[in-house]
Amino acid sequence: MTINIALAGNPNSGKTTLFNALTGSHQYVGNWPGVTVEKKEGRCKKDGEVVLTDLPGIYSLSPYTLEEVVARDFLVHDKPDAIINVVDGSNIERNLYLSTQLSELGIPLIIALNMMDLVRKNKDYIDIEKIEKELNCKVVEVSALKNENIDLLVEISKNAALENKIFPEIKSFPKDLETYIQKVEDLIPSLNEDRARRWKAVKVFENDKQVIEELKLSPEQKSKIDKLRADAEKFFDDDVEGIITDGRYDFVTRLTSSSVKKGRQGLTFSDKVDKIVTSKIFSIPIFLVVMTLVYYLAISVVGGDVTDWTNDVLFGEIIGGKLDELLTNLGTSEMVHSLVMDGVFAGVAGVLGFLPVIASLFIFIAILEDIGYMSRIAFILDRVFRKFGLSGKSFIPILVGTGCSVPGIMATRTIENDADRRMTITVASMMPCGAKTDIIAMFAAIWGGAWWFGPVWYFGGIVAVIITGLILKKTERFQGDEAPFIMELPEYHLPSAYNVFRSTWTRVKAFVFNAGTIILLASIFVWLTTNITINFKFEPFGSSETDSILAFVGKKIQWFFSPLGFGDWLAAVATILGLVAKEVVVSTFGIIAKLGDIETNTGALTDFVKDYFTTASMLAFMFFNQLTIPCFAAVGAIRQEMNDRKWTRFALGYILVFSYTMSLMIYQFARVLIDGQAPNFWTGVAGVILVIYLYLIFKPSKYKK
Ligand code: GDP
Ligand code: MG
Repeated sequence: MTINIALAGNPNSGKTTLFNALTGSHQYVGNWPGVTVEKKEGRCKKDGEVVLTDLPGIYSLSPYTLEEVVARDFLVHDKPDAIINVVDGSNIERNLYLSTQLSELGIPLIIALNMMDLVRKNKDYIDIEKIEKELNCKVVEVSALKNENIDLLVEISKNAALENKIFPEIKSFPKDLETYIQKVEDLIPSLNEDRARRWKAVKVFENDKQVIEELKLSPEQKSKIDKLRADAEKFFDDDVEGIITDGRYDFVTRLTSSSVKKGRQGLTFSDKVDKIVTSKIFSIPIFLVVMTLVYYLAISVVGGDVTDWTNDVLFGEIIGGKLDELLTNLGTSEMVHSLVMDGVFAGVAGVLGFLPVIASLFIFIAILEDIGYMSRIAFILDRVFRKFGLSGKSFIPILVGTGCSVPGIMATRTIENDADRRMTITVASMMPCGAKTDIIAMFAAIWGGAWWFGPVWYFGGIVAVIITGLILKKTERFQGDEAPFIMELPEYHLPSAYNVFRSTWTRVKAFVFNAGTIILLASIFVWLTTNITINFKFEPFGSSETDSILAFVGKKIQWFFSPLGFGDWLAAVATILGLVAKEVVVSTFGIIAKLGDIETNTGALTDFVKDYFTTASMLAFMFFNQLTIPCFAAVGAIRQEMNDRKWTRFALGYILVFSYTMSLMIYQFARVLIDGQAPNFWTGVAGVILVIYLYLIFKPSKYKK
């Protein structure tokens, strides 16, 4: 026997935390809306008969946002055996608005009054019995974070599902409005047998197209209901949706004012912190400082000595040395020895050498997320983005994309407005993901521990997004209504070691997995193509570099990158191979720099790359690799989310042109200004491009509202 129980509630009420605690799964607990768009199913650890579904966070059961559609579809059509309504006890008034709707569905409803730990800390008082009575359902006080009462919650919910007892519906609206709803019910006899009778009647009254269609109303019924609706709108002097919304709010306000007493008058700790952290004046400087600090710690503190040690001692001497010894003892042929050492080892070790930087970056991001600062960033940048005509919601996918672009691109699903969604899909991969951070870390190490590379490329990504927004928003195809963005700011709390560990571990695991699979294969490919000459002779490693297949192909394409300052076969193939996965840029350099030669590999990668680039060409190379077409996985995600060939092509085309022209400008200007070289034809081209960009950015928009 299986009992299906749905977890429904506002974003950030703790559904996923509860779901993870009950099922032992590791779904992503995020502090921003839109992280859980899809529903997730899991079996309860303690009671195998109970299957829980974690629904996306919603504020109401209207069918406007994707989250609402997913959640409503599940609740109304799949009909779980019971609903656990997760309510944030520290924010009860807003949360109960949804509860009034859930209570109408005719499904046993249990309110999990969550975050009781916070409620107690704030010394708030909540009259549980009163809420139970007024809402006609059972209330269980829990703390998902502290695992309080959650087994009891399941037990009560399971029993409610088994009993399948529905409490008589509550008449929460003012009398006049109740009369209208009653009249609608009377007009639809088929509702008599329906347990969701009241919900459907209200929805029909609200002119909800989907419900009306499903009820297959006759034209006569429809016209009678239309008349009722028109009547009511006149009587209440408001549109129907407004009437219902007000009715619900009034009910909830009355209920909470009589059942909730806030312990502390005035501002909570979080409110006080937010006064500064999200203030108009300080928010952006604080954000800049925080992210700069994060990169400073990751690249400079951890990066400096730990990375040197990882590269030179751990991989160079210990692992590399042992591997080399093992191969020699096994008596492998020279070819196999070279394949393993100069190919696989050099490539994979090159990438993993910077793992400490990436892992610590992931840790810091996880901490910022868990204490609640990341949602403040989304909130702050929402204000900034709006100024540039971008939807604030666009920033969440971009923030998520700092770990990996793929989930970032997927998170765009929550953006209702198609124009904004497509734009966000286009720009989501411009942020430095973990793999691109590997490239940044490599260059930072080369440039004498230049930790500021991190923030420069991070904020550079944000600037790239804003420029793109400014340009595209002025074109017709990116017009659309501005969608409202409701951002819940959770209370700050100390980071939980478990959450931080989980989210770091998930990302680190993915990174290491990539190194052991894609990077490994790519390294074998690079090794083969550098050791086989164009007339298909296998030549001992090293001597054939210049007439190897890889060099041959690289020389055919290098012209394309010449204006960007890295028109050399190696940088060209590294960039192209980077499309497989961005770490391949690093692994390719690792192989060519002979990291596999354990006698000489100390500092080999950094020395090699340092000689290879000038300041200007390095800057251009890094920016190009960050901004240009992302890895195959991310391109796949773009294609899937665009779900349209033309739009996918547009996005990739835009990305290519944008990254190319940006890097061209960076190289040409840096070449003259930093490296002190004479301007040439391409510098002129860069100047023209700059003028075009300035024009596109500053020309007034025809579409400005
Ligand atoms: P969802 O959006 O409803 O899935 O909410 P999440 O499970 O992602 O939780 C949102 C935030 O609330 C996270 O930072 C959680 O750590 C935090 N949280 C969840 N449950 C509790 C709780 O019982 N007490 C406290 N203090 N925080 C909680
Ligand atoms: Mg969630």
